[in-house]
Amino acid sequence: MKQVLILSCEHGGNAVPPEYAALFHTQRSVKALAGHRGMDAGALALAEALSSQLKAPLYSATVTRLLVDLNRSVGHRRFFSEFSRFLDQPARDCLIEAHYEPHRRRVTEAISSTVDRGCRVCHIAVHSFAPRLGSRERRADIGLLYDSGRLPEQAFCARWQRNLRTANSSLRLRRNYPYLGKSDGFTTHLRRLFGPRRYIGIELEVNQRLLRHAPSNTARLVAQSLADTLAA
Ligand SMILES: [Zn+2]
Repeated sequence: MKQVLILSCEHGGNAVPPEYAALFHTQRSVKALAGHRGMDAGALALAEALSSQLKAPLYSATVTRLLVDLNRSVGHRRFFSEFSRFLDQPARDCLIEAHYEPHRRRVTEAISSTVDRGCRVCHIAVHSFAPRLGSRERRADIGLLYDSGRLPEQAFCARWQRNLRTANSSLRLRRNYPYLGKSDGFTTHLRRLFGPRRYIGIELEVNQRLLRHAPSNTARLVAQSLADTLAA
């Protein structure tokens, strides 16, 4: 079965459309917007580099997750943040219609049309994580998040991890860290629409320290190891 790579980036920026600018006037909101909660720093540049090196389509969004989180299900307690939660229903519906649904629809349609052609989709959702959460250091450079109940995903991540380790043995690689691949997220939603033989959904989580200090080396390493894994 032919395998097709599709990339997405849900937290690519911290853009605030002008109609919501008033929500980010306080010192606290400005600080949150500029920090790790506002966006996944470095993730979009990495996703764009992977897209060009691997010649794979990329679907990205740059609206800040503090308005609406494109990686959460509608109704999740962190779908809206404390800065957008109190908006009235029509305003929240507008956010969903203008920013959440278009991205989710574009990715879903790309997967659906590829599956309809008889191919298997390997969907990599590109994210980054802060080196520290509060006082706790995150002890990983790269995390691969998948659903351990889906054997093709498990096998794919095991191979990808081996290829990453072969390329650079000093990297701290972990699976289902810093989050679980099967908790609420876009890939979890897509798994309900597409079976395990047709759809592999993996969240790539890269430490922002790595993306800050060695962005192009990291992109090359991830691209090459991913290409090798897809070719196997
Ligand atoms: Zn993210």
